[in-house]
Amino acid sequence: MGNSHAYRDLKICSKDCLCLFVCPTGASDNETGQIDFEKCIGCGACAKACPARAITMIPNTLPRQQLKNDEVIKEIFDIVNNKIEQNQILKGLLDESKDNRVLKTLMHSNKVMIEDLLREAGYMLPQSKNTHDFLKDISQNGDKAAQDLANKLLDKIVVNE
Ligand code: SF4
Ligand code: SF4
Repeated sequence: MGNSHAYRDLKICSKDCLCLFVCPTGASDNETGQIDFEKCIGCGACAKACPARAITMIPNTLPRQQLKNDEVIKEIFDIVNNKIEQNQILKGLLDESKDNRVLKTLMHSNKVMIEDLLREAGYMLPQSKNTHDFLKDISQNGDKAAQDLANKLLDKIVVNE
């Protein structure tokens, strides 16, 4: 038994069935289109044979997530701020050149990256300590409406330290 399992991305798979021919256990021949986790021995033959690169070998055990200490969070926020600045510049350019699809795509890509980075930093997860601290700050220092909303949310979340 290897230390990984094969995963087929059906969106990319071109259904040419090469992986079925090379698989020694029949794991990739499955009516659901997914590779049978129980039968797969992780040999990787299917991934090598796949012309569409639709198969990824997934490790059986994943490394521990990196701890989000202050240093890491600061680095993440530096990148986030950089992306926000980029989007402000792009927005200015977009106002001048209406409907420029390249600019719109770049802005969208930055927005997705910002969301991912904030998620990585522990924000946008209702259970995270960062979110909890953030809401606490609003509940103490925000205006009345923001305080009320923050207090309501604080009542509902469970902190995941
Ligand atoms: S990794 Fe090997 S056993 Fe698993 S599905 Fe691919 S060819 Fe079959
Ligand atoms: S070899 Fe790749 S493209 Fe072909 S059926 Fe298998 S997963 Fe799909």
